[in-house]
Amino acid sequence: MQRGRRKPDWLKSRPPSGTRFTSIKASLRDRNLHTVCEEANCPNMGECWSGRNGPGTATFMLMGDRCSRGCNFCDVETGGMEPLDPDEPANVADAVAEIGLEYVVLTSVDRDDLADGGSAHFAETIREIKRRDPDILVETLIPDFQGDPEAVDRIVDAGPDVIAHNVETVERLQWPVRDRRATYEQSLSVLDRIDRTADVYTKTSLMLGVGEYDHEVYRTLGDLREVGVDIVTFGQYLQPSRTHLDVFEYVHPDVFDVWQTVAEEEFDFLYCASGPMVRSSYRAGELFIDAMIR
Ligand code: SF4
Ligand code: SF4
Repeated sequence: MQRGRRKPDWLKSRPPSGTRFTSIKASLRDRNLHTVCEEANCPNMGECWSGRNGPGTATFMLMGDRCSRGCNFCDVETGGMEPLDPDEPANVADAVAEIGLEYVVLTSVDRDDLADGGSAHFAETIREIKRRDPDILVETLIPDFQGDPEAVDRIVDAGPDVIAHNVETVERLQWPVRDRRATYEQSLSVLDRIDRTADVYTKTSLMLGVGEYDHEVYRTLGDLREVGVDIVTFGQYLQPSRTHLDVFEYVHPDVFDVWQTVAEEEFDFLYCASGPMVRSSYRAGELFIDAMIR
């Protein structure tokens, strides 16, 4: 464990490179499209986009860049919600098809200001992508839709291959980590509904380093398996700015390895991606295909 403001060496990353990375970046600029990967300046772009041993992965953010919630770990701006762009589903689908992405992750801000939480718009984007090429694998990282089962079912019915919803942290720390409207119970109920209603893989992510105890992480893994979650990821929480939640500790890479072993061998998750730089969509295409053929 390492406490304090100074980042340890294991969190230093190399700038992304490679011909595939460069060509995807150029295609995105041509279409004036922006990925979460770039906007968050994610350290994994080189690895994810290139997909050296399998399909490359990129993540698109839907429904704007302002969120109706304000989580204390997240850099997205709160409030001032704009109307949805009706052309967005088709535009994103065109870009995914033209760039030749084989695995795409769709995520969104929370849109509690909309009656359906934006679920119909989200579902339409999935359909548009699959309409152009049913072989493109689509992972969706969805909000909790305030626990609305109809909104969750709308996503399921659109036929994504993986549906993720993040619990983010252990039960005790939901607040102050997440917005007060997000609860552990609600997130588990969303994951449970997906598992019970659809033949689809479910996934969730936790950040480590916000003050969680090992026994709480262990218990969370059990809770997740109980509601049928197939895939889990662990990454280090990094403070986006001084006004955000403090980092409690920088968790050593060896500890991330231990959680991967525990998740896969003891709890029998399909796979667990775990490491200081891992994010929910980290090499999602490659790791998913790997797990499928194992
Ligand atoms: Fe960020 Fe999601 Fe929280 Fe909105 S709901 S503030 S996008 S983590
Ligand atoms: Fe993009 Fe996610 Fe990979 Fe980061 S981890 S580069 S956001 S796909």
